[in-house]
Amino acid sequence: MGLYGCPTTVNNVESIAVAPTILRRGASWFSAIGRPNNVGTKLFMVSGHVNKPCTFEDAMGTPFREMIERHCGGIRGGWDNLLAVIPGGSSCPVVKAEDIIDAPMDFDGMRDVKSSFGTAAIIVMDRSTDIIKAIWRLAAFYKHESCGQCTPCREGTGWMMRVMERMVQGRAQKREIDMLFDVTKQVEGHTICALGDAAAWPIQGLIRNFRPEMEARIDEYTRNSSSHGAVLAAAE
Ligand code: SF4
Repeated sequence: MGLYGCPTTVNNVESIAVAPTILRRGASWFSAIGRPNNVGTKLFMVSGHVNKPCTFEDAMGTPFREMIERHCGGIRGGWDNLLAVIPGGSSCPVVKAEDIIDAPMDFDGMRDVKSSFGTAAIIVMDRSTDIIKAIWRLAAFYKHESCGQCTPCREGTGWMMRVMERMVQGRAQKREIDMLFDVTKQVEGHTICALGDAAAWPIQGLIRNFRPEMEARIDEYTRNSSSHGAVLAAAE
C-alpha cells in the first residue's frame, strides 16, 4: 500500500520507460545489447566541456570517445584538450583522459579504470580545469550535505574540505596528501549512509590520478612564499 492507499511502485523513471519496449521485444532482445554482465541501454547525461552537453540513450558498453562524438559533438577544443572525466555522478572517482577515451562505458569498464559507472551522469573536464579546485568544490558540497548523524562523516567531510582548500592554494606539506588519503579511508565504509563514501571517493580519485599536480601546486606556493619572504627581508 502506498500513494493514496493504492498499490504503488517506486522505481527509477528510466526503468519504467524502458519496460514496455522490453515487454514488446522480449528480454533476450534487451539482454543482447552490451557486454555480458553489462547489458541493455542506459540514459547518459553529459555535462561540462563537450560541444553539446545533452542527455541521450545508448547501448551499454559504447566506448567513451564514440559516444561523445556521436551525441555531444566531441570535446571542446578537440580530444587532445581532454583532461579528465567523472563518469558516474559527483561521487565517482575522476578518471584521466588517456584511461577513459577508449574505455567501454558500463559497470565493468568503469571498475577497470578504478572508478564507478554510478548514474552515468558524466562530467567532462578539459585542460582549462583546475582539477584540484574542482574536487575541492565536490568536497564542499558533501560537507554541506552531511546531516551530522555519524561522526566520521560529520567531522571527516569538514576536515577533508578544509585540507582540500589548502591543497587548492598549495598551502600544505606534501606528506599531508597521504594523511588526506588516510582520512578518506577512515570515512569510507564507516558511516550509516552512502554519503560518507561519496565524500571520500572523489578525493581518492584526485590523489590517485593527479598527485604530481598537487605536489607541483605545493612547490609553487612554497617557492612564491620564500621569494616573498626574501623580498621582505631585503626591504628590512
Ligand atoms: S553518512 Fe549519512 S547519515 Fe552519516 S552523517 Fe553523513 S549524511 Fe548523515
